[in-house]
Parts: sequence; structure tokens; C-alpha cells
Amino acid sequence: MPSNKTLLLLPGDGIGPEVVAQVRRVADWMAKNRAVGFDLKEGLVGGCSIDKNDSPLTDETMADAMEADAVLLGAVGGPKWDAVDFAIRPEAGLLRLRKDMELFANLRPAIVFPALADHSTLKREVVEGLDILIVRELTGGVYFGEPRGIFNLPDGQRKGVNTQVYTTSEIHRVAAVAFDLARKRSNKVCSVEKMNVMESGRLWREEVTKLHKEKFADVELSHMLADNCAMQLVRYPKQFDVIVTDNLFGDMLSDEAAMLTGSLGMLPSASLGATDATGKRKALYEPVHGSAPDIAGKNVANPIATLLSFAMMLRYSFDMGDDADLIEKAIRRVLDDGVRTGDIASAETAKVSTSGMGDHVLKALDSLAR
Ligand code: NAD
Repeated sequence: MPSNKTLLLLPGDGIGPEVVAQVRRVADWMAKNRAVGFDLKEGLVGGCSIDKNDSPLTDETMADAMEADAVLLGAVGGPKWDAVDFAIRPEAGLLRLRKDMELFANLRPAIVFPALADHSTLKREVVEGLDILIVRELTGGVYFGEPRGIFNLPDGQRKGVNTQVYTTSEIHRVAAVAFDLARKRSNKVCSVEKMNVMESGRLWREEVTKLHKEKFADVELSHMLADNCAMQLVRYPKQFDVIVTDNLFGDMLSDEAAMLTGSLGMLPSASLGATDATGKRKALYEPVHGSAPDIAGKNVANPIATLLSFAMMLRYSFDMGDDADLIEKAIRRVLDDGVRTGDIASAETAKVSTSGMGDHVLKALDSLAR
């Protein structure tokens, strides 16, 4: 009897509950049709938790997240909570999850399904079939380095300071994630920094090279300066498999890569922490989009980003690559058949609802599994 995976669902606010509901349906399908069961638990995060508990994330829900094999989040926030105290705003719940789970590696795939290649602002031949993964360091670098602040100078000017700082272990742990993931993909890592002008970049390149030599020599490694990488991403993005980079460059490059795909409703993400003594890695999966208050409650949101986040969970937390492939194949088939939610619809395609898209994905899973 296969062991069950414990999965904490945090649907959150706005369209979060609508899109996470489709994941629940796919998880049920997998329990019935594949050799895996999920113990699903659900909790509150963001505005809905503020309404009920006066806190965007309670200690109990945090404890559930620490215990779960993986966490899937919908989205948080919305105008209803714009005026709440900054310390307990909806996003504070998400930030606490990331901090307490020590999620230091952020994974943002950019995948262009052939049926949607015309949604990109780039030419079809540049992006069609694109499948790259950006691994961004998430808890270090210039966003956290000290000293930082705005200081008054004796001559009356002001000085703004942030510090880019990385240690060997911070570089090694995120690079190890990138190398590991590359082994499950096309086995290529491109490490990105600015070693030509930054000492922290020089250290980054030296340490990635050292780790590669010691533990990951089977993976193909290349290095690139961040400004060149920004250009290469729009010139010839298919040259990349996995890109690993620091917090600041990763912030920019992952948004740039995301836009190659042309649609916010299609973008999944994962954030990973360290592996514990039992081999378990803390992990949070979530769509890149927010709570979309303008369409919330209307059953029109695109659930694909969240379904792809679930597929990432199967692949990266549970080593269930075949099942992840199956979900991605089902989504590809549905898109090839011209099934579209409003955000990716065109004049030639019919529009379906959020749950309608879920119906089509389940049907495609049925026929692929036959
Ligand atoms: P958003 O991503 O919620 O929406 C931007 C636009 O994209 C909207 O027009 C929306 O309708 C559309 N959109 C987003 N997801 C879609 C989907 N799945 N299907 C179809 N259309 C979709 O960004 P925003 O409007 O800047 O922010 C709204 C709220 O979400 C804010 O409160 C913000 O703080 C919050 N937010 C949360 C997260 C998160 O939970 N990780 C991320 C970003 C924004």
C-alpha cells in the first residue's frame, strides 16, 4: 500500500479558492487512478485569516505547514484589507511562511505551450516549446545585507545604502538545488552573476565552479554575466535549461523569462528549503499571479498556473515525475484542443470557466491514463 503524502492547501483570498479547488479535483483523480493518496488539510492565510483570527497566519496553521510534506497556496490580498495595520497585512502571512520554512530557493519555470506561442510578444519560433527554469536565491543578497538604510551626511545630503553579501554556504545550497533539478531535466546549468564588477559575483562564480567539480561534474555548467543573460533570454531563450542566480538578478530575470510565455494565468512557482535528516525538504508551491480581485468569485480565473504548481510539487517534493508529466500532458492536450479561459482566449477559441477548465483537464487525464 503506498504511503500517503500530507498536503496543506492554503487557498487564501480572491481567486485563490477557485483555482485551488481544481487542484483538489486533480488530487482526488490521482488517488483514484494512480498509486498515490494525499491527506489533504486546508487552512487560512491572508485576508480570510485576518477576518477570522485577526492574524494573516495563525501559529496553528504555521505548525501545519511545518509538518506537511508540501504546501500549496492560492493567493493572498485584496482591496478589502488595504487599510489593515501593515504588520498584519495579508502578505505578512505569506512572508512568514517563506521565512519560518527557510525557503531559500525560488523556482520559476517559463514554459511555452505550442498552442499559446502567439500570446508571447516574441516571435513564435523564438519561444515555441520553451521550457526553462530559473532558480533564484531568495533569502540572502542585497535585499537582506547589512548595513542598509538611508543616512544623513554632514554636508546635508542623504545616502541610501544596501549591501550585496553572500557566503560560501548560501551559494552552495542554492547551486546544489539547481544542479539537482538539472539532473531531472536536460542536465544543464547556467550560473549568472556580475563577476566583472562585483566581488560577491566573483565569489559566486568560484564557489559554483568548486561545488560543480566536487559533486556535480556530470551536469553541464556554464557561466554568464547577468546583463548578457537578460539579452540572451529575449534573443535565444531555448539555449537555457536551468539558470541559477542571486536574489536581485533572479528577481529581474525570472520576471523577464515569465513574460516570454505571455500569460500570468499560466505561471507556476515553487520555493524550497533545506533537506532535513529524513531527506524531507520544506516546500511551498504557488501560482505567480495574485488574488485578481477584479475577477474573483466569477468562476472565470485560469487555474492552470495552480495546476502546474501542483505538478511541480509532484516532481520536486515527491519524485513523481511521471505523474507530473501526465498532468502537464493533459494541460497541453486541452490547450491544443482550443479550450481557453478568458485570459488566454482568442477570436477562434471558445471560453470556458475555471471549473470548466478543471473538467477538461480531468477528461484529458482519463483519456491519457487509459
Ligand atoms: P494579480 O496577479 O492579482 O492580477 C493582475 C491581472 O491579471 C488582473 O487583471 C487579473 O484579473 C489577471 N489575472 C491574474 N491571475 C489570473 C488568472 N489566474 N486567470 C485570469 N486572469 C488572471 O495582481 P494585482 O492585481 O497586482 O494584485 C491583486 C492582489 O493580489 C493585491 O492585493 C496583491 O497584493 C495581491 N498579490 C498577491 C500575490 C500572492 O499571493 N503571491 C502576488 C501578487 C499580488
